[in-house]
Amino acid sequence: MSYKNFPMVPRVIFGRGSFNQLSDILAPKRLSINAPFIFLVDDVFKANSWLTPRIPISYDDKIIYVSADEEPKTEQVDALVEDIILNAKERPSGIIGIGGGTLLDLAKAVSIMLTNDGQAKDYQGWDLVKNAGVYHVGIPTISGTGAEVSRTTVLTGPSRKLGINSDFTPFDQVILDSELTKNVPKDQWFYTGMDCYIHCIESLNGTYLNAFSQSYGDMALSLCKEVFFEGRLSKAQSQEKLMMASWHGGMSIVYSQVGIAHAMSYGLSYLLGTKHGIGNCIVFDHLEAFYPEGVKLFKAMKEKHNIVLPAGICADLSDKEFDIMIDVALDLVPLWENALGKNWEKIMTRKKLKELYQKM
Ligand code: NAD
Ligand code: ZN
Repeated sequence: MSYKNFPMVPRVIFGRGSFNQLSDILAPKRLSINAPFIFLVDDVFKANSWLTPRIPISYDDKIIYVSADEEPKTEQVDALVEDIILNAKERPSGIIGIGGGTLLDLAKAVSIMLTNDGQAKDYQGWDLVKNAGVYHVGIPTISGTGAEVSRTTVLTGPSRKLGINSDFTPFDQVILDSELTKNVPKDQWFYTGMDCYIHCIESLNGTYLNAFSQSYGDMALSLCKEVFFEGRLSKAQSQEKLMMASWHGGMSIVYSQVGIAHAMSYGLSYLLGTKHGIGNCIVFDHLEAFYPEGVKLFKAMKEKHNIVLPAGICADLSDKEFDIMIDVALDLVPLWENALGKNWEKIMTRKKLKELYQKM
């Protein structure tokens, strides 16, 4: 038996206001005055006089605002990399992603593609990256995905939605400043927060579970319950705890896997562009046969926060379109194997999967 040897984020700062230390953190990492830091920032902060003036810019450093309306695409990564190479005198000193999972994933992917030949789509999969990326920093502004700690960057490519999973993907530095999450709209807070909750349920109920994953998953689940169900926390406490839930949830799946909601949500996302958080919620709401306890609590939390999920998003799809979603979902073999065991193909047939999608 050979065990996987996983990398972890080597440096992390936690604390409200810690974003102000970014300048001190970056200074020693500057390779030369011609090697800029590139800040990839969610464009929701473009006109934000509270955050943007605090981004430390000097020499040729550059802020690139990116919309998070759509999830990251391999072509988008290639275009960003080309733009950065064309405009910088030297290879950048670092890439800093500021935003949610979308921006964090883009920062990770751009960092990798600055030092590896070819196109981002060539690296979708497991352990295909050859060279370490440039120094990269992740600064989440919304909590739940675990992208700040994970070993993957999830990208939609020409033929599939699949992560670049590699030892070079995790950030070199993360800044966990929960104050940055204070203006997240309520529905989005719930959807992205539930991504974390679903990571826990899928990891803790999976066949890949081990004590490492369980210790993180239990902790993340208990934090999610405090934040979304028990409701005795101040705003700041709730933001801090959700940030740590996201971290632990991400750590839990590093050494196990996610499951059915994620596999099916990838299908929705690929065909319909449904975003990760809300897509997971839409799917998970119908998975009581697989995760009875988890779905019961999910429904209670949904009710508590008056969240109404979209219904009927698959109502008008053709058979061909169902087939596309089913292909994307079934392609994610480790997720199914984790959820249902080695004989998963006997349990989750195409017919069964279609019936589930038809309910959504
Ligand atoms: P997101 O980055 O897509 O952002 C969601 C919305 O919240 C956007 O409209 C964004 O502008 C807004 N927003 C973010 N921070 C805000 C703030 N502080 N104030 C106001 N608005 C704010 O959201 P997400 O759910 O964090 O990320 C989803 C993405 O993460 C998907 O692309 C998914 O594939 C990816 N993901 C990656 C991993 C991983 O391990 N790499 C894991 C799960 C999900
Ligand atoms: Zn997820």
